[in-house]
Amino acid sequence: MAFNWKEQETISTLEKLVNIPSPSGYTMQVMDFVTDFFDQATIPYIISNKGGVIATIKGQDDKRHRLLTAHVDTLGAMVKEIKPSGRLKLSLVGGFKFNAIEGENCLIHTAGGETITGTILLHQTTVHVYRDSGTAERSADNMEVRLDIKCDSAEDVRKQGIEVGDFVSFDPRFTKTESGFIKSRHLDDKASTALLLELAKQAANGETLPQTTHFYISNNEEIGYGGNSNIPLETEEYIAVDMGAIGDGQASDEFTVSICAKDSSGPYHYGLTRQLIALAKEQEIDYKVDIYPYYGSDASAAIGAGADVKHALFGPGIEASHAYERTHTDSLKATAALLHAYINSPLGS
Ligand SMILES: [Zn+2]
Repeated sequence: MAFNWKEQETISTLEKLVNIPSPSGYTMQVMDFVTDFFDQATIPYIISNKGGVIATIKGQDDKRHRLLTAHVDTLGAMVKEIKPSGRLKLSLVGGFKFNAIEGENCLIHTAGGETITGTILLHQTTVHVYRDSGTAERSADNMEVRLDIKCDSAEDVRKQGIEVGDFVSFDPRFTKTESGFIKSRHLDDKASTALLLELAKQAANGETLPQTTHFYISNNEEIGYGGNSNIPLETEEYIAVDMGAIGDGQASDEFTVSICAKDSSGPYHYGLTRQLIALAKEQEIDYKVDIYPYYGSDASAAIGAGADVKHALFGPGIEASHAYERTHTDSLKATAALLHAYINSPLGS
């Protein structure tokens, strides 16, 4: 089947995904979006006890399976403490630093189902009052949430239904520029999730795939245990579709698909990685092979949990990861092309 890049559909799905708050541990609503999507595409799926969704498209060969995963959980926070001033202290969910969310608008998701808006600020933000606003450490002690409610005591805040343990999500600020850049929080890994959903929809409507293929949308990757369970036993190849890391010395960029040879967990499966590189060459897909210094994926989590699979990792290059991220439609297109080439190729021996 020829590759057909559905840019508008993919970006529209991506925008919908980033606008559904889904910090790891609070992914119910986004998983409903995912199951609705598979329902509409009439692709059967199972839901794991952990809340992940595994959709399956039967192939010509139903004995040897391949699995592709992307994660839909994101960074976020929890209310750690309600200060006597009525401001909130935060405990971060996922791997990032407070400076990445300074000044960001946020939502507090109360147990009663209310959503209250606020802004994450350094306590000493006001330069007209605090001499150390530039130098104060951006730490759990100094960063706080200013709520958009009239309150000056912890009691006032509690009256609104806010309590310790409530989830906090960050404003994604999704923007697409004329020049093709997409700026948003949580492109990691909702960009790949959008690509996998669109790929599954197209595959379900196209010619039969060579192998039975699973599309696993996981919901605990940022905290280390996303797609590491419920892997069908017939699975021989396991691909994590997740962001390429961009920075000094990195090969990845915002215009190509990044194929990861090694990350902090160790090398990915050599044969499968070479097979992906060969596919990219053959299909003339712009790609980069890279090593990510501080990185793990659901594929390495699956291996760590004992899965006997060949594992690989590729995805779009994401600039300023775990902060206000950016990528380009070129990178999404290259990733979509490699995904398409991969699921339509025979399984390696
Ligand atoms: Zn990720």
